[in-house]
Amino acid sequence: MNKQKIIIVGAGYGGIKALIQLSTCKDIELLLIDKNSYHYLQTDVYDYIASQITLSDIAIDLYTFCSSFSNVTFIHEEVLRIDFTNNKVVTNSNRYMYDFLILSSGGQTLIPSSIEGLRENFHGIKSLENALLFKQKFEYFIYKKIENEGKCSLDSNFNIVIAGSGLSGVEIAAEMANYAREFFKDTGYLCSGISITLVSSTQTLLASNSLFMQENAEVRLNQLEIKIIKKARVVKVSEDTLWLNNGEKLAMNFLIWTAGITPSDLILKMQVAKNKKEQLEVDQFFRLVEHKNVFAIGDNAALFDPLSKKPLPPTAQTAELSADYVSYNIKRILSNHEPKIKSIRIKGFFASLGGKYGCGELLDFVKIQGFIAYCFKKMIEIFYRKPLQKRCKQGLKKIKNS
Ligand SMILES: Cc1cc2nc3c(=O)[nH]c(=O)nc-3n(C[C@H](O)[C@H](O)[C@H](O)COP(=O)(O)OP(=O)(O)OC[C@H]3O[C@@H](n4cnc5c(N)ncnc54)[C@H](O)[C@@H]3O)c2cc1C
Repeated sequence: MNKQKIIIVGAGYGGIKALIQLSTCKDIELLLIDKNSYHYLQTDVYDYIASQITLSDIAIDLYTFCSSFSNVTFIHEEVLRIDFTNNKVVTNSNRYMYDFLILSSGGQTLIPSSIEGLRENFHGIKSLENALLFKQKFEYFIYKKIENEGKCSLDSNFNIVIAGSGLSGVEIAAEMANYAREFFKDTGYLCSGISITLVSSTQTLLASNSLFMQENAEVRLNQLEIKIIKKARVVKVSEDTLWLNNGEKLAMNFLIWTAGITPSDLILKMQVAKNKKEQLEVDQFFRLVEHKNVFAIGDNAALFDPLSKKPLPPTAQTAELSADYVSYNIKRILSNHEPKIKSIRIKGFFASLGGKYGCGELLDFVKIQGFIAYCFKKMIEIFYRKPLQKRCKQGLKKIKNS
């Protein structure tokens, strides 16, 4: 019997989880396609920018990782389009046939063209390359401050503005404020003075989270002396200035833009049913409305709990849970069973809020903050990362012995 071919497009949180789950089926061939050669751990990037972890902790090698499985092939190519009529994935150099397709190409930073100067003057952290460039520029600035030690006036500020008060904006703001504070405190340099401003379009930070998370985030950011500007939108940006719709004008050296995501270019170009945010519309089994052998998981789809129909947030956790659900149903279909509806429940949510401080909720009733929450968040990250790194080592060994 011919083996069924399953292609996964995108090796993010969703794609990797689907691959792990489906790799246990021996009668299938799995192809993982990604435009990057690594799996980027976006959720840990704030730690990387603050030099708490290294590049190898947030970039998992997909060649060695995939080599650790017997039925998985990694293709390092960019997917340009899907030929749904002929069940083919078209990349920049090849075409691959599939029986089932999983779209998990994630999202990218949304840059509204209506904001003059934004595209030319922002830094993003949604891609590893951008995060790396930002980290280098930030460290170079700190070096410049040290170089000018003695000449600088105490009030010569370096201003970082972060636009967007969702999880990524809040975590980055907190970690950078803490990093700058600890750096200058521990070393006794005269040239301190890094000011961080967070611009939020809403009245609360982490607006889509619970009141507990919102309040904790605000208290912590205030403690870290981050200036918070609420209910304001960026309208114009130049190299060193930012204009808000409330008339305020901010001097800035860096703008980090975390105010929204949009699906990958692949999805933006796709002619299928999508919602207002351009995410793929899916049925109760997370299949495309028009193509029943194509599933969509993670940030590139408009996901909801199949039982309650409540929307799911665009997080790594949702990406993984949707991958579990889709893999479960593909396995059922492969063994001639009907797909089955299951509930998808978010287990909890943790935010890192600078240094050894965090806050989080588990199963709706456990609410923790401070060092314990920080430890939880670290544990989640380590339990995610370590098995992947272990797989890479196994894959490397296999490649060397072959
Ligand atoms: C700073 C930051 C902090 C965050 N913190 C948290 C957190 O604490 N908890 C949490 O749950 N979530 C967090 N998130 C959100 C989380 O990272 C995303 O929701 C998650 O990455 C979505 O997973 P995904 O698999 O859908 O897509 P992604 O992880 O974005 O992966 C998409 C993959 O598709 C590939 N791809 C895209 N287009 C193509 C193409 N045309 N061809 C081939 N490959 C392609 C990309 O290279 C990428 O590897 C954070 C995000 C950021 C930016």
